[in-house]
Amino acid sequence: MSAEKRTLLVTGGSRGIGAAICRQASQAGYRIAVNYVSNKAAADALVAELKAMGGDAFAVKGDVADEADVMAMFEAVDRAFGGLDAFVNNAGIVDVKARVDEMSADRLERMMRVNVVGSFLCAREAVRRMSTRHGGKGGAIVNISSAAARLGSPGEYVDYAASKGAIDTMTIGLAREVATEGVRVNAVSPGITDTDIHASGGQPDRVARLQDMLPMKRAGTADEVAGAVLYLLSDAASYITGAILNVSGGR
Ligand code: NAP
Repeated sequence: MSAEKRTLLVTGGSRGIGAAICRQASQAGYRIAVNYVSNKAAADALVAELKAMGGDAFAVKGDVADEADVMAMFEAVDRAFGGLDAFVNNAGIVDVKARVDEMSADRLERMMRVNVVGSFLCAREAVRRMSTRHGGKGGAIVNISSAAARLGSPGEYVDYAASKGAIDTMTIGLAREVATEGVRVNAVSPGITDTDIHASGGQPDRVARLQDMLPMKRAGTADEVAGAVLYLLSDAASYITGAILNVSGGR
């Protein structure tokens, strides 16, 4: 199938890394479903931008942590596109800086619910549509992990780091589970990337504060992460599955 007919759903596609993935994928000819959870204005603006550039896109609201929302989101994609070729598990959250000995059960449950359970539920729905075992024609999944999975994020958010460790393990296991079913599953593991996520965790100055300790003395851009995602979704990566690709400037 030619790339211009492929369909892609990106969770958390409205802003940051997800929006960069949507832009690059639209330019590569994919039809795009842009998921968001609350920022309708950002999602609508991105869809308008993609359409103005000649793309085919729509916005779909849904909380990945809510199973009914996840089901409805994938059904909306079925209705709009009649099939799913590519899926990116990008939606993710951080929380405010805290030590483990300060973390409440509510915080831990929210972190794992969004970043881990949400990613599993979405991967499940993607596999149900793509896998030849379910009558699908194959496809590619990319999960967005984090360098935090390797570094542990001590004193900042070990809970977030552990949630991304789960994403790495899920990537390896799911890749092997569906390897004969036409579905490739990989992860991109960004280092510090310049997006709104740091402000959402109460650290708007995080990039400026930490960039000097990075090997390249700068954070990554959302576009640099998106480029790796587009590669792993593409046929150029046809023998790559279960891989975790660091896009972290050497860290
Ligand atoms: P961001 O700028 O904060 O954007 C987050 C996106 O996720 C938004 O589109 C948001 O939707 C959506 N979202 C949040 N919670 C959601 C939920 N429960 N259900 C559906 N969508 C939800 O984040 P980002 O920096 O681009 O991060 C994207 C991914 O990269 C995350 O998985 C993050 O952990 C990972 N990552 C980021 C960095 C970094 O330094 N930025 C580094 C490593 C890994 P709304 O617009 O509706 O709020």
